[in-house]
Amino acid sequence: MFSSSLLLQESIVIGWAARDVSGHLSPYSFTLRKTGPGDVVLKVLYCGVDHTDLHQMKGEIMPINYPLVPGHEVVGEVVEVGSEVNKFKLGDRVGVGCMISSCGKCLSCNSNNEQYCNQRVFTYGAVNEDGTPTHGGFSTAMVVHQKFVVKIPEKLAPKQAAPLLCAGVTAYSPLKQFNNSDKAIKAGISGLGGVGHLAVLIAKAMGHHVTVISSSEKKKAEALEHLHADAFLVSSNAAEMEGAAASLDYILDTVPAFHSLEPYISLLKAGGKLIFVGVSTKPLHFNNDDLILGKKSLTGSFIGSMEETQEILDFWAEKGLSTLIDVVKMGYINKAFERLERNDVRYRFVLDVAGSNLE
Ligand code: NAP
Ligand code: ZN
Repeated sequence: MFSSSLLLQESIVIGWAARDVSGHLSPYSFTLRKTGPGDVVLKVLYCGVDHTDLHQMKGEIMPINYPLVPGHEVVGEVVEVGSEVNKFKLGDRVGVGCMISSCGKCLSCNSNNEQYCNQRVFTYGAVNEDGTPTHGGFSTAMVVHQKFVVKIPEKLAPKQAAPLLCAGVTAYSPLKQFNNSDKAIKAGISGLGGVGHLAVLIAKAMGHHVTVISSSEKKKAEALEHLHADAFLVSSNAAEMEGAAASLDYILDTVPAFHSLEPYISLLKAGGKLIFVGVSTKPLHFNNDDLILGKKSLTGSFIGSMEETQEILDFWAEKGLSTLIDVVKMGYINKAFERLERNDVRYRFVLDVAGSNLE
């Protein structure tokens, strides 16, 4: 573990927490863990609202210890640094994503893949080294080891950067393998939500031909006109799906619910990959003949490394891209989750935490 044992100060923080599987959030105060020599304390400015927060608040993926303060797309300003911090200084704009620690010793950690460390510690709903619960960015402040903090490029507005810290890197990490390819890449992005809309922008910026695969016609005009996707398929339209059979090199599947896989597998060319990032709360099944006959693969991907998190922020700034966000105050958060659950957000809610006057 990255050590955090030196005691500097103790402070009370106001957050919003879920208390049970209803997922309803309400104000909650807690003590910030003590600042260690390698730690950065940040005042939270903005925090993105991810579908994973909803899965977690409702205990849909794993058992949860309540109260749970969600939020893992955190942009803040450095207000204190430990004695050994060399990456950041007071006043820096910084970001924190899904993880705040890992073992630092295993194969994954030693190869800049710490997101796959089996001792990784999540930003919220986990336990700090000192035994206190980890709490996320739906709160006024956080203390995080500098290894798990990234720098927000000056060109990026803090609220713009928030969704990149989880959704953005979740799309970027698996798409990177297709960047700078010497052949033309045909991409599919399934589910046009928070992760999906960023994936479309990233794939387009990498020069891929992008097909959006959506559950209805509702987002067609936006996908083609605003996000500049090249094609749009409605997943329930069998004729449309069959017309595009064997056309894609990869599909990034961001759908957060059960769905039948065979129509997606059929869209892949021989050797194509269906990459899961969306979490189905029920087991998915499929016939394996199309995989065998087409040397196709099903694979998963989990967020990205700290290095990749910095890379996507820099990529975004360099390419001049814009996240499509809806900025809301903390008082709106329960409504925001209700809307997220019924697929009514264009395309990411971002909480204006500092502007919500929580203290
Ligand atoms: P989101 O904003 O809710 O977007 C999901 C999209 O999937 C929707 O906009 C919708 O797009 C489509 N969809 C199809 N069926 C749906 C259904 N039954 N309910 C809701 N949406 C449905 O979610 P997100 O924040 O992008 O997250 C997507 C998934 O990725 C979640 O499961 C989340 O936990 C997961 N995730 C994984 C990682 C990782 O590291 N692997 C990181 C972040 C998030 P259309 O209207 O186009 O159909
Ligand atoms: Zn490790």
